[in-house]
Amino acid sequence: MTSALLARAAELDARDPLRAYRDRFVGSDDPEVVAYLDGNSLGRPLRASAERINAFVTGAWGGRLIRGWDEQWFDLPITIGDMLADTVLGAAPGQTTIGDSTTVLLYKLARGAIALRPERTEIVVDRDNFPTDRYILESIAQDHGSTLRWIEPDPRGGVGVEQLAAVVSERTALVVLGHVAYRSGYLLDAAAAALVTHDAGALLLLDLCHSVGSVPLELDSWAVDLAVGCTYKYLNGGPGSPAFGYVRAEHQDRFRQPIWGWMGRDQPFAMAQGYEPAQGIRQLISGTPPILGMLAIQDTLALIGEVGMAAVRAKSLALTEYSLDLTRELLVPLGVEIGSPTDPERRGGHIIIDHPRFAEITGKLWQRGVIPDFRPPEGLRIGLSPLSTGFGETAAGILAIRDELLA
Ligand SMILES: *Cc1c(COP(=O)(O)O)cnc(C)c1O
Repeated sequence: MTSALLARAAELDARDPLRAYRDRFVGSDDPEVVAYLDGNSLGRPLRASAERINAFVTGAWGGRLIRGWDEQWFDLPITIGDMLADTVLGAAPGQTTIGDSTTVLLYKLARGAIALRPERTEIVVDRDNFPTDRYILESIAQDHGSTLRWIEPDPRGGVGVEQLAAVVSERTALVVLGHVAYRSGYLLDAAAAALVTHDAGALLLLDLCHSVGSVPLELDSWAVDLAVGCTYKYLNGGPGSPAFGYVRAEHQDRFRQPIWGWMGRDQPFAMAQGYEPAQGIRQLISGTPPILGMLAIQDTLALIGEVGMAAVRAKSLALTEYSLDLTRELLVPLGVEIGSPTDPERRGGHIIIDHPRFAEITGKLWQRGVIPDFRPPEGLRIGLSPLSTGFGETAAGILAIRDELLA
């Protein structure tokens, strides 16, 4: 059975139009890593990024020194923000910048958003939203005296538009939802969520951490108000690479974020008295942005530009479908349950499977070079980064999970 299964995986790899791109990643030929199934938590680096970072240290930083700020770095957060907008966000220029972490940017965007609806007292969020999102909103609610209205989604699915419609009202200032749920992989119908939110007169802030670079996005046409997302997952920016923030053009005149720093001031080098926000999206910046951390993102954006998001999504769906097939065949008979949507329209780039022994097995898998993520209480999350993950690798990973369950 195993050999037939591996032959089928080899056939899928041979037919994969994105197969060759996998070789562009550092470590794709490392025999110690049998299956990297966590590229949605920390993407692999591209070889081009190793070169770019090295060249930056010796050239732009070591050679141009402080002059680099005038020559390039001052505008880099906006330049890369526009590249991101164009390549993966479905957004016109001038609405996206990078810097800070997702956590901090989420705080800035959420505070700015509720200040746009001063007469409203409620923020809507769901229980399965990523912890940092829930905690940041708890902190804002406490400071601001707002009330959190919690949606309780199906843990194996996500927030349905009917559920959202049932909680929003004339009291809602802001709705904060994950686009792809970090645990179940459920893909929200973002355009419908925006419609329901706007019908209630509220604003929608989407967290795109688990969708950007794996699911095609159309922020402008979906009419999303604000968005945030990280760049070290499917965008392979490297550990701690800065997050991006999107503020829809129509809100930018009235929008004010709460951390007033010199780098987001109009004419920062005038060192003037009194804060005046910079024009446009630049106002979202607070302090000196992490230039080194922005380098690698550009290589993944160039690669996605070459391949196109439609091809990335097609491969992503093929990988998740294949993992579900293998799970049904090899793991469900051993008591494993599927915790992700089986409908491809509602599924992002990863799946999660549940079994009471997964907490114990994860360490053993890591030791044998099979690297998924454990998510409590008993979930093994299988991340399938479309540009760097192969079908043979996926099959080897799921076979190893079966072996550990049988051991
Ligand atoms: C990974 C992730 C984050 C991480 O936030 P950081 O500030 O980068 O630690 C936030 N939200 C979601 C949905 C995530 O998946």
